[in-house]
This record gives sequence, C-alpha cells and structure tokens, in this order.
Amino acid sequence: MMANPLFDRLFGVHAGKTTPFLYLPSGDVITHQDFLVLAAGMANVMINIGLKPGDRVAAQVQKSPEALALYAACVQAGLIFLPLNTAYTAEELGYFVENSGATLIVCDAARERSVSALGRKLSARVETLNADGSGTLADKARDMPDSFETVAREGEDLAAFLYTSGTTGRSKGAMLTQNNLLSNALVLAEEWRFTARDVLLHALPIFHTHGLFVATNIILTTGGSMIFLPKFEAGAVIDHLPRATSMMGVPTFYTRLLGDARFTGDVAAHMRLFVSGSAPLLAETHQQFKHRTGHRILERYGMTETNMNTSNPYDGERRAGTVGFPLPGVELKITNPETGETLPDGEIGQIEVRGRNVFKGYWQMPEKTAAELRHNGFFITGDLGMTDEDGYVHIVGRNKDLIISGGYNIYPKEIELVLDEQPGVLESAVIGAPHPDFGETPVGVIVGEQGQAPDLTIVMEALKASLARYKHPAKLVLLDQLPRNTMGKVQKNILRERYKDMFFP
Ligand code: ATP
Ligand code: MG
Repeated sequence: MMANPLFDRLFGVHAGKTTPFLYLPSGDVITHQDFLVLAAGMANVMINIGLKPGDRVAAQVQKSPEALALYAACVQAGLIFLPLNTAYTAEELGYFVENSGATLIVCDAARERSVSALGRKLSARVETLNADGSGTLADKARDMPDSFETVAREGEDLAAFLYTSGTTGRSKGAMLTQNNLLSNALVLAEEWRFTARDVLLHALPIFHTHGLFVATNIILTTGGSMIFLPKFEAGAVIDHLPRATSMMGVPTFYTRLLGDARFTGDVAAHMRLFVSGSAPLLAETHQQFKHRTGHRILERYGMTETNMNTSNPYDGERRAGTVGFPLPGVELKITNPETGETLPDGEIGQIEVRGRNVFKGYWQMPEKTAAELRHNGFFITGDLGMTDEDGYVHIVGRNKDLIISGGYNIYPKEIELVLDEQPGVLESAVIGAPHPDFGETPVGVIVGEQGQAPDLTIVMEALKASLARYKHPAKLVLLDQLPRNTMGKVQKNILRERYKDMFFP
C-alpha cells in the first residue's frame, strides 16, 4: 500500500534522479531531484504556516518551475491544489477564493496589494510567487529543509479543485481525486507511447487540465522531460521543436505554426507526436499540417470534469474531424436528452461518460452535480455528438449552443462546416439569436481571410444551395476575429449577448 499514491507515483519515484525534467528558455535545466527539493521547501512552508491536509490553496501565478512545484508541494502535503487562470481579475479571484474556501492564496507580487485586501476579507493568507521564481513563498521555501515527510492520502481523497473554463457560463469547481488524475495519466502515457526518452514541448498554460494534468502528469509518470516555455509563441516553438519529441497544443497553436513560413518538415523531423485538444481541430488544419510536415495531428477529447475521454489511435487511422475512440477504462454512450435512452451509431445525442477519470462532483453545487452526474456513474458532459459506423466519436457541439428554431433542432456545426468551406472565409461561428416568430434563429458570424471581406451574398447563396431551409441563417455578419478565451475556445455566449436584440426593434 502506498502512502500517497499520486505523489509517490508522479513525483516520489524520481527522488535522487539527476536526469533533466525541465529545460528552460534561459538554458537552465531543472532535474527531477531539483524539482523535488523545490516542492519540499514549499510543502514545509505551507505546513509551518498552519495549513492542514484537505485545506485549499488557490494559486494565481505565472507559469514557472516554481509554480509547477507548488502543485507537487500541495500533493505531497495533502492540500487541495486550486490553479487559477492568470487572466482573472481581482473580483473573479474573489469568487474562486470564496467559493472554494481557500485558506492560502498565492499570487504574483504585482497583485499583492489587491489580493491582500481580499485575503483579509476572506480570512485567507497571502504569499507571493513571481514568474522569475522570486516571492515570499519561494524565499521562505529556500530556508526550509530540502525534504518533507509526505502526508498520507487515499486514492479517493481530493487532490485538486479545477475550475472549468467558463465557456458556457460561470466556472464550476470540479473536485478531482488522486485516482482521477493518476488513472488518466497512466492510460494516456501508454496510449500515446510515452517513455523516459520523451522531450515534450510544453507551451500550454498550467492552470488548465490540458497543460497541468494531461501534459505534465504524463511526463511525470514516465520520467521524461519538458521544454518548458512561458507561453505559446510560434517563433520560440519553432526554435525549440528540433530538440523535442512530442508536443501538446490547442488548435490555434497549430494554425499559428502553419502561418509561419519557417515551420517546415525539417523543424519537425525528430518529432513523433503532435496532440490537439480543448477545442475542435478543423479538418483543413489537419490536412495542411500533414501536407507541410508529414505528421498527422492526433486529436483527443477531454474536459475539466473528466480529464481525457477519447483519443484517436496512435497506430491506425487518425480520422480528421473526429476525436477517436473512448480510452481504455472509459465508457462512452450517446443518449437521447429527453429519455436518456442510448442511441445507435449515426444519431446525434448527448455524450455521457463513466470511468475512473470522472470527477467527484462540483464543489458546493449539489443540485448541479445531481443533475449531471447520474446515480449509475455516467456524467452528462454537456456536449453533443455521435459515433460513426467505425466507432469514431464526432463532437457536434455543446448542448447549450444547440439552436431550436420553430421547433427544429439546428446544430451550429453543420452550418459552420459549410461556411468555412466558402472562398474568403477563414472561420465562422453560428449562434442562435432570439427571434419573434421562431423563438430563435441562426446567425452566422464570419471572419474573412487576411482581413478581406468575403461577398456575403455569394456566401448566403452557397448556404441556401446546401442546407435545408430552416437551417438558413437569417443573417450573416462579418467580424475581424472571433472572441476566444485563453484556451482558444470560441466564446459563443459573448456573441449571443452581442446579437440578442438583432431581430427586435
Ligand atoms: P465551462 O464548462 O465552464 O463552460 P469549458 O467546457 O470550455 O467551460 P473545459 O473543461 O476547459 O471548460 O473544456 C471542455 C470542453 O471543451 C468539452 O466539453 C468540449 O466542449 C470542448 N472540447 C475539448 N476537446 C475538444 C475537441 N477535441 N473537439 C471539440 N471540442 C472539444
Ligand atoms: Mg464544460
């Protein structure tokens, strides 16, 4: 029996190893052992200031080795880690701290003043940690012993509260256990053939499931290393790729790489794997990437509440426009939203998943939890999709984005796919706008290629030629860009808000 399965398996196993863990842009290298010392120092500080196992630690910090070590320190000390998007305002931070009952807030020194006021109001301590590794937490950690006696935990104990991206409304705190995180990391490492020889190019933020629990945990379970970049920037990624073996990214990473002429097959010659997720990868990007580099991007599907659900195969066909098959240990079914009945292949319904990857519920939201996490263990993801005849899962969009017009169900993606194919259209988003006759009606929001404006009359003609009448957008509008959050997800709620009065005087 292990004392703290997540810590022991991810971090503890590397004790004493002087092999590289993080390669930094400065040229510095942090070994696995260096990393454990950083974590032990912080764990000692947090226990010394009085934190008890099960307490929550809210971290709104820039990406750095120290910020990542704070995650390890929380696991080692039995604290619940709560990473937060660095873009959140002080007011938003207040919501997360209050909602989670965090007793320690770790923030950048530049925000210390406003955060301290918040800390006083909510009875939380405040420590600082900056992008360069300085700050009160780091200073105190350096004066601490370089080892820490790991606090015992059970696999079913909570390891993290991870707030959802807030794409469809207010963020919810997903309670994740040690087992949730560990089981997913082990499955993915095997599915995607990670070994200690892997060097993962890491340009994702570490406050989101993708960069923190998917990318980092996989590397930790295998003992590999990461080229740890502060953020995605195409030029820097191209400079570092020749030394990497693998990369994980959101679709916008790949479109931006393709937009850079320096990104060629040579740059990616030593790569064995490019993974995409968090938002849909356009089939066109998949094709262009293959054409340019010879690599087939592997698309997978996951979410804050469940870690990863599906993946295209490592060997075998990576089918563009799909997210592949359920991972080992994950059951996935497509159900009728009204009756809950399982639907056959080819029919669109809500996606439900069950497995060791599925979270414990939303923190302090018992009703929402009960509505979405069924008694039989299936979680209603809020996504709509279908399986094709070969078993590949297709994501059709989010339940909340479904447009019901005059009693008809309209899946925005179906219209978006036609729009994206039109000459001069770079990308599109279709939303439902309130309408006096139909309840709702589709509106197509278009971004033109290279700032050019496509002819909307021609685009509308094309839509009319290929879609049934009730799916014809009542209006097409042009925008310079689509509103996206930090994970590159299109924020349709912002568009809906903007056009909500379009059909009302
Ligand atoms: P919120 O739940 O707060 O509205 P969110 O759902 O965007 O925010 P995340 O948990 O970060 O928060 O994102 C998970 C969602 O991202 C999935 O439910 C799905 O809609 C979308 N997603 C993830 N991977 C893919 C993919 N490969 N293709 C299409 N959509 C994806
Ligand atoms: Mg969600």
